[in-house]
Amino acid sequence: MKLFTVGPTEPHPVAFATSAERLPYFRTGEFSDLVLGLERDYLSLMRAPQGSRAVFLTCSGTGAMESSIAALFGPTDRVLVFVSGAFGQRIVEICQSRAIPHDVIHIPAGRSVSAADLPAAKAGDYAGVLLTSHETSTGVLHDTKLVGAFAHSIGAVMVSDGISTFLADPYPMDEFEIDVAITSSHKALGLHPGMAFVCLSPLALAKVATGSAGPQPYYLDLRRHLTDGLRGQSPWTPAIAALLQMRLQLDRIAAAGLYGEIARSQGLARHLRAGLEGLPLEITTMDLSNCLTPLRMAGPQSAGDLYAYLMQHHDIAIQPTGGPHAQTHFRIGHIGNLTLQDNDELIAGLRAFFGMTDSNSERVDASV
Ligand SMILES: *Cc1c(COP(=O)(O)O)cnc(C)c1O
Repeated sequence: MKLFTVGPTEPHPVAFATSAERLPYFRTGEFSDLVLGLERDYLSLMRAPQGSRAVFLTCSGTGAMESSIAALFGPTDRVLVFVSGAFGQRIVEICQSRAIPHDVIHIPAGRSVSAADLPAAKAGDYAGVLLTSHETSTGVLHDTKLVGAFAHSIGAVMVSDGISTFLADPYPMDEFEIDVAITSSHKALGLHPGMAFVCLSPLALAKVATGSAGPQPYYLDLRRHLTDGLRGQSPWTPAIAALLQMRLQLDRIAAAGLYGEIARSQGLARHLRAGLEGLPLEITTMDLSNCLTPLRMAGPQSAGDLYAYLMQHHDIAIQPTGGPHAQTHFRIGHIGNLTLQDNDELIAGLRAFFGMTDSNSERVDASV
């Protein structure tokens, strides 16, 4: 099956390379060296400012969100959260669950946060500003740089959920003024689920060290991970296979160049969007990421039927949208190990579903 989903994504071959291997034991100097090398190279890929640290957590992206928010903020702080969909709401729920006082700014669907959305705040009003840089549920790519500069203008720590924009769009921590960047193994990296990554700038590290956080989660205690990470270790057994895959993937990206990787997603996104021409589908978002294309059924057909049709007849999985829009909306991913040929197969499947036949191609039976 081909995955046009946004996570887990179509896995990259490096994800299989480790499957046939016996995994190394991890409480060794050799394994510590592997982790220290990963931290160094990952920070450089993220364009993290000098003095930053990265930790590798054994969990999905949500675990890294909870771990970092818990380590940074507590009941005596106040944070500002920008919400434009389900993943922004997840940040709010994490704050609620940890009794972290928070103000919410709702950004209307379809567009990025803009200068007019920023509140009149002064230094000290907020300990942190939290943004879902790409809201995967609606496909809106937010102006992280604008929010990062705002956060720093009021002395707040800038926390960015970059899980679905990292490697799909430019996401430089230094230029965007991000203090905490959260990513995971199974989105654009195209690796198996199992690990999430947190990069912390010196400002974020200082807040974690001296901050006012409440009680920490035991398993995902970021401070313990930071301390043990100094010697390339983790408090608990890590997802060893995922770390080995990460090593191979970082080497591959270093060879191809970070911007080569981003350009690949961009090329896939442009090619697919051009291929939708003439189909009864509407792109629902103005400020798009290269990560995915959010679509609405403009005709009477149901998105659920389209999903089932592509699965059954083309062995393709698109990304369904949950909630009240399940029958009208869906998404097509452009991250993970996809090619233009895969796009062509999906476009052919869409055309067949909508009963559109191409004069220069074989007739497809649209009645099924
Ligand atoms: C995928 C994703 C997450 C994390 O989801 P998990 O299921 O925990 O991996 C968080 N934020 C965004 C924006 C995402 O796309």
